[in-house]
Amino acid sequence: MPKVLIIEDELTLVEKLANNLRSEGFDVETAMDGEVGLEKVRSLLPDLIVLDIMLPGLDGLSICRIVRRDVTTQHIPIIMLTARSTEVDKIIGLESGADDYVVKPLVLGEFLARVRAVMRRAPGRPTTRQDELVSGSLRMNLTGRRVFKNDAEVRPPLSNKEFDLLAELMRNENVVLSRDLILTKVWGYDYFVDKRTVDVHVRWLREKLEDDPSNPKRIVTVRGVGYRFEG
Ligand code: CA
Repeated sequence: MPKVLIIEDELTLVEKLANNLRSEGFDVETAMDGEVGLEKVRSLLPDLIVLDIMLPGLDGLSICRIVRRDVTTQHIPIIMLTARSTEVDKIIGLESGADDYVVKPLVLGEFLARVRAVMRRAPGRPTTRQDELVSGSLRMNLTGRRVFKNDAEVRPPLSNKEFDLLAELMRNENVVLSRDLILTKVWGYDYFVDKRTVDVHVRWLREKLEDDPSNPKRIVTVRGVGYRFEG
């Protein structure tokens, strides 16, 4: 049974989420402050973390960064909860490493759809696909989820979503992918994600991978359609 850890300090919300996730077949653990939450991440190694931003002790964005830096926890998918849409940029940005986010007040159906989607594409599942994608100076190690440019590992490392997006683009080298197709393939569902999310992630990828991010040569915009990875 997949294990979810909810780190959230609003008791009524914790109970609501826990009950619904249990009825979806998850084994649910909870923590109501940041430090206890981080301890439980390390001791339980859950399959998914649902993480509030504003927490007593240690805030959610800090927890997210710590989890991503630790090799024993960096693969665990994280869904962030936020009360403010102004925080969304920070969450999906370069630093946090969250896989997805839900803005409060939370719509339960949307939340559960995101949980299912994140779990579907969680890494660590057996795959028979090739282990590496290579194009010019870029190399992706798919099982290790590492990216190299000119044989040096790309720093800071790609978030899970950036990694999946780059893999999708590289698998389709020289082919134009529409935003809709990218959303379906990388985010795994169509209903709740703003299409601009794709653009934001492309921007972050370019900053990490392109020699000159303002004049991209690898991930090229195809106006009115989407993006193409140039081989
Ligand atoms: Ca809170």
